[in-house]
Amino acid sequence: MEFIKTSSKRYLLGVSILGITAFIFFNKLAHHTLFEWVIIFSLTGSILLLNYYLIPIPPKGNSLSMDSSIILASLFLYKLGLTLDVLFIYAAIYLFTQRNIVWWKHVFNFALYTLLTVGAYYLFILLGGELGTINVKSLFPYTISFIFYFFTNVLLIGTYFLLSGVDSPKYVLWGMIKESATSYSSTLLLSLVLGILIGSHALFGLFLFNVISFLLSLAFNQHFKLFKEISEKANKDFLTDLNNHGYFKELLTEEMNLAKENDLPLTVAMLDIDDFKKFNDLFGHIDGDQLLKEFGALLKAETQAKGYIVARYGGEEFSIVLPNTDRQDAFAFMNELRKKANDTYFKGVEGLPYGCLSFSAGVAECKKETYSISELLNHADQAMYAAKDQGKNLVHIYNEYSEYTVQKSLSIEKDLEELELQLKIFLSKDVYTYRHSKRVYQYAVDFSKKLTLSEHERKTLILGAIIHDIGKLEIPRDIINKKGKLDPHEWEMMKKHVTWGKEIISTNKKLEDLIPLVELHHERYDGNGYPYGLKGKTIPKLSRILCVIDSFDAMTTERPYQKTKTFSEAIAELRNCSGKQFDPQFVEPFIEMIKQSNHVEEVDKELVLI
Ligand code: GH3
Ligand code: MG
Ligand code: MG
Repeated sequence: MEFIKTSSKRYLLGVSILGITAFIFFNKLAHHTLFEWVIIFSLTGSILLLNYYLIPIPPKGNSLSMDSSIILASLFLYKLGLTLDVLFIYAAIYLFTQRNIVWWKHVFNFALYTLLTVGAYYLFILLGGELGTINVKSLFPYTISFIFYFFTNVLLIGTYFLLSGVDSPKYVLWGMIKESATSYSSTLLLSLVLGILIGSHALFGLFLFNVISFLLSLAFNQHFKLFKEISEKANKDFLTDLNNHGYFKELLTEEMNLAKENDLPLTVAMLDIDDFKKFNDLFGHIDGDQLLKEFGALLKAETQAKGYIVARYGGEEFSIVLPNTDRQDAFAFMNELRKKANDTYFKGVEGLPYGCLSFSAGVAECKKETYSISELLNHADQAMYAAKDQGKNLVHIYNEYSEYTVQKSLSIEKDLEELELQLKIFLSKDVYTYRHSKRVYQYAVDFSKKLTLSEHERKTLILGAIIHDIGKLEIPRDIINKKGKLDPHEWEMMKKHVTWGKEIISTNKKLEDLIPLVELHHERYDGNGYPYGLKGKTIPKLSRILCVIDSFDAMTTERPYQKTKTFSEAIAELRNCSGKQFDPQFVEPFIEMIKQSNHVEEVDKELVLI
């Protein structure tokens, strides 16, 4: 890091010295006539004006400044010393007026523009460009010196970003070129237009150009404001003016990525107003809407100061993202919020069971192994239902070892029956996968007894085991039943079964908890698995367990494209791949389970043979 910092500083210093030297050498304290001084100050004034009236470009609001058009036009019309003086006066005014930018950035900017200007000027002259008026004969030199101006600019600034360690080299340069290519193309054309205007009507031409740019800036600003208003509306809930459900999920995804990248805590809270139906029944929907609106305003006021993100999740449910906050602090905040809601008078709340407005809330913290926002929201949701179940007007922290059977019936027998029915489709197409899934299911039942799992985790593992290969339904019969090795493209298709499987079960909200098992059972502990290449504990625990079980069965059974291993060979392989393919903490317990279960004789027999 230190290396990066010092090398970027040296770079800035180097470019600055080079630029200033070029300025002194090429400017030679140029003498100007009175008219030329008038031109110099007019051009400088125009640059200042146009830098103030920028043209905003949606969606991010990057802006296009026409200042480079003025520099290029001046370059094509006048001697180099004049343009360099424009740059100098402009930089000096900026240095004294823009005090919020550190002085060395001003110096670097001035040096950069000087180098670009000198380079573009001499390239123009070298290629036979004629100064004085804009002339179609000089089109080639115009274009080349412009291309030089553009690419050198990107290169010099891009190098600074690279040395500051911002991003990967290709990404930075390509990003800059893509972002600025269109705006720079218009800069070139505008510089020629300005050149023609100045060439024929000098100061009046420059005046016209400024007026047009100014009006364009106003018009674009108005459009941009409108664009922002509309896009904000699309993200807002019409009743409460809070973020809506869709936008909330986008924001949560961003926050979750940020928290994971920087190893910061992140907590999410779900809250649901208690007995709201009763309020509607008593006073009608219009008053109900009013209450939601006022409650929304309270949430906004309380969360805004803390930098939390609040949204109306739907109906009378709201959600809050608490960045940089762990579950204990989030719990404390939510309890204060709850008290605040209890203590605030809203019209009609005396009719509610508690005589005040109350809500129940669930809090869940994002962990390394939380792999999707839906998993996190689901946890907060489960905790919220636990709070409801314990009498409402409560906040509850999600605990993975608690039972959350109230709201979500992963009732194992019924769901197993349903999933088995789905699995039977394999009987006609791919009997191997059918039998494999049944065996993996049986291993999961046995293994889950050996592990310390919550009841919910146990059910999820067992149900996930039986359905984990459902995505193979999408793979053509000839590939799935192929005898012998798969071609690379067939193998690629085979690997897609995890994603297809996820898509199939995503259609059933009840099976949401099984998604990580279906999608991630081919991730490897060392990060070399698929589909994402997740590593270590970032792979959900149950997926790591299923990976061991699934691989063991695959090794020990007849597969069309792989030689079968004996149990002891497979055990040796599990140990061999412990810490690479498999999470070591599950390998020995699994082997122990295999030895203790019905297969014990088989294992022993083989061990004797070895
Ligand atoms: P609980 O304490 O278990 O949360 O009970 P509840 O009555 O709050 O919850 P329930 O889910 O039974 O009912 C929610 C009610 O919220 C039903 C629905 O009419 C009302 N509701 C949802 N959205 C709106 C809305 O936009 N405006 C109004 N006025 N009511 C809404
Ligand atoms: Mg509700
Ligand atoms: Mg409710």
